[in-house]
Amino acid sequence: MTDPKKQEITELRRKINHHNYLYYVMDSPEVSDVEYDLLYRRLQELEEKYPEYKTPDSPTMKVGAPPLEKFEPVEHNLPMLSLANALNENELIEFDKRVRNTLSLDKSPDYFVELKLDGLAVEVIYENGMYKLASTRGDGKTGENVTLNVKTIRSIPLLLREGGKEFPQVLEARGEVIIHKKEFAELNESRFREGEPVFANPRNAAAGSLRQLNSSITASRPLDVFFYTVGLTGEWVPKSQQELLQKLSSWGLKTNPNSRLCRSIEEVIGFYREIEQKRESLPYEIDGIVVKVNSFALQEELGEVSKHPRWAIAYKFKAQQATTRINSITVQVGRTGQLTPVAELEPVVVGGVTVSRATLHNEDEIRRKDIREGDKVMIERAGDVIPKVVSVLADEKTPRNKPFQFPKHCPVCGSAVNRPGDEVAYYCSGISCPAQIKGLLRHFVSRSAMDIEGLGEKLIDRLVDLGMLSSVADIYSLEKNKLADLEGLGEKSAENIFRAVEKSKSRPFAQVLNALGIRFVGERTARLLAEEFKTIDAIIQADEDRLVTVPEVGPRIAESVRSFFSNEKNLNIINRLKIAGLRFVSTEDELQPQSGALTGKKFLFTGTLNSMSRDEAKKKVLAAGGDVISAVSKNLDYLVVGDQPGSKLDKARSLGIPILTEEEFLKLTD
Ligand code: NAD
Repeated sequence: MTDPKKQEITELRRKINHHNYLYYVMDSPEVSDVEYDLLYRRLQELEEKYPEYKTPDSPTMKVGAPPLEKFEPVEHNLPMLSLANALNENELIEFDKRVRNTLSLDKSPDYFVELKLDGLAVEVIYENGMYKLASTRGDGKTGENVTLNVKTIRSIPLLLREGGKEFPQVLEARGEVIIHKKEFAELNESRFREGEPVFANPRNAAAGSLRQLNSSITASRPLDVFFYTVGLTGEWVPKSQQELLQKLSSWGLKTNPNSRLCRSIEEVIGFYREIEQKRESLPYEIDGIVVKVNSFALQEELGEVSKHPRWAIAYKFKAQQATTRINSITVQVGRTGQLTPVAELEPVVVGGVTVSRATLHNEDEIRRKDIREGDKVMIERAGDVIPKVVSVLADEKTPRNKPFQFPKHCPVCGSAVNRPGDEVAYYCSGISCPAQIKGLLRHFVSRSAMDIEGLGEKLIDRLVDLGMLSSVADIYSLEKNKLADLEGLGEKSAENIFRAVEKSKSRPFAQVLNALGIRFVGERTARLLAEEFKTIDAIIQADEDRLVTVPEVGPRIAESVRSFFSNEKNLNIINRLKIAGLRFVSTEDELQPQSGALTGKKFLFTGTLNSMSRDEAKKKVLAAGGDVISAVSKNLDYLVVGDQPGSKLDKARSLGIPILTEEEFLKLTD
């Protein structure tokens, strides 16, 4: 008979490998980090207790997951390790003891303490100060080549600063690619509207956005980066973590300002508490702090075990859970007409934020968890901005309400609702449901679709309520003076909106297709369809058998596309959009992935250029996928300076924007 402990170990490994695959490879975990960490800890415990069952292929011996085949593999010159975890104060104190014992110190060494950013680790290689190669961590030894994608991140410099004199010939800078909370919420909001799966947390959103074959998709996602360590550094030998970060920052590599040199473990604990308070006000997600022995000489003495260094530890925050009561259950209607039940909660503070609503996903979820109005529940914010109900808590004192009845009619327009075939969601059948129109308009003007700045959510709601907008085509027949007459708007805003509407007419076909809001057709599918069919008329003609021949298009998407284009009302709208001048045909240029050397970077010129005119310079930027903007702002990536520069130079300097000479500019574009 097999030993039950061995069985448990095998089962734990199977589960952890499964979760690793979903988390690292698919960027789509199905359990929270807390649940994962518990499984992992249990496996570690058992392997320590029964070393006879330890095997080199156990997930406790490996970092992350191997690279996906669709990316070119990149071998790291030095391994990219993981971090050991402390889940409570005692474990942190134990870490300090181990460090002191190994180093035979009677007091703690200096610790450099940083935020533990919740994103995706990357390595960026600079040669002679120029951006060369970027890769993900992968399994620690081999990562994925994401050079073109990382380059689109605005905070990644293509040239290091300080005129190329001080930095080492080869610098492997390592850091975390993250997405800010606000942008994460917007991205998920739009994926939800498009019927695409939402990302479980900002970490997965950042990873999913970076690990794209098409770098223009990465460029459209607002990613950011913070550097915190290095691989090879050539002739440069930093002495401490603090010095390392100061140098990286002086070369224009972004480092996180919230770090501290601590002289004792008590100071580290004090810093942790401060950060715990500050956590919610940070614009990005963190899941703890990272404590590092500051001196590199001491780090070397401590060394590393198979998957993490002995000189550092991640001290993670506790799960963000709280109990409260459900006051009522309401139902929201999205742009596709999808009905989503929402728990309206007795407001409760979870991890510093007051939560008053939580998603209940769908009717099946409500049934499965038997959630009813009035119930006492456990809610969780697991890095996710949309809190969820984890479970119903037994509460003998209060008699329970009847099970929740899903509405038979749309709560916004009163039309009947239906639940198609094998779907879990209900949909409103009303063709002029204001909730759907507003949702579709919001999606249509969004950045990944027609990118009409100024036509925000509140204005759209107002225009629909006033009867000035009842379909997306109405946007192109809005009257400027009527818009200017609206209270709180005025000439200038109306003019800006008009300009943005005009500009949207030159958006590529794939984006127009995405903007139409066909269910299950988001950015990526729209692009694939545009690439395959080249014109809207060819898509309209295609039957389901033809549609499923497109890579990644399955029967569900094909059916949705077919049904969208079989609807007379939709065809009418497309005709009106054609007349307005939107692009319904792909040009060869736009089918090329926009992955030039400068994708996503914004330039501005000042002074007279010697070897070319401003127009020629601008063409070079555009040809390499970059953009030229008209004024200095913090959005600018590079100011190119010619002879006799104007005041733009002073302003750019005051904002810390990298300045390029004409020569440096040519190096980047040629
Ligand atoms: P980790 O996230 O615990 O720590 C290592 C990583 O921290 C580094 O690779 C780096 O990317 C990051 N980091 C952020 N800020 C840093 C800083 N200032 N200095 C150094 N590193 C910094 O380890 P891991 O191996 O990436 O992942 C393991 C964790 O991932 C688990 O503990 C779990 O929370 C989560 N996970 C969850 C699932 C799931 O299904 N939910 C599955 C696998 C892993």
